[in-house]
Amino acid sequence: MDPNALFKKMHRFYGVQDWWPGEGFEIAIGAVLTQNTSWSNVEKALENLRKADLLNPQAILQCKDDFLKKQIKPSGFFNQKSKYLKNLSALWAENSNPSRKELLAVKGVGAETADSILLYLLNTPEFVIDAYTIRISERIGFGSFQTNSKWKEFFEEKVGKNVGRYNEFHALFVIHARTFCRKNNPLCGSCFLRKDCLFGKMSLDSI
Ligand code: SF4
Repeated sequence: MDPNALFKKMHRFYGVQDWWPGEGFEIAIGAVLTQNTSWSNVEKALENLRKADLLNPQAILQCKDDFLKKQIKPSGFFNQKSKYLKNLSALWAENSNPSRKELLAVKGVGAETADSILLYLLNTPEFVIDAYTIRISERIGFGSFQTNSKWKEFFEEKVGKNVGRYNEFHALFVIHARTFCRKNNPLCGSCFLRKDCLFGKMSLDSI
């Protein structure tokens, strides 16, 4: 199975995901807040920011540090993340269409965050690589690469530059990792991909 066949199977099973939740600069805020935490915690922080009218870069820049930290506390690491949000807001206030290089120069914005912002907010064809993508890809048998940037090259070469496909693919990886392909106890016996998956076949053969 290649990545395009995987996409079709996951798409058929889960249907259209239509990410990212939220719109405008809220997407960039969510991409920072989701670092090292679950989306349910991010939603609580976003709701606080929404109520405080803090979902835009100017408001975040003007906001007192302690107040901002309090609003984003549910997402964890709030001391760091409040600084990251201010850094990203400072860039955005000057340039609301930054390049990948400009985003990566912001302290607190790594490749996964930058590519999420580029793909979901700026509609730029950057394949988002995260731990879920790598876990599923390695188990299925796409290979093993040393770095996330090699995985990114792999997917972009196999899938081709396609914003809509990248958008759905990342969302499907996330839902599949949470539903079947869990880190510690993957549900291979009931997974619709088991016949095409190296790890799934091996684990079923050993039963
Ligand atoms: S068969 Fe198992 S390892 Fe393979 S994708 Fe499904 S849950 Fe993951």
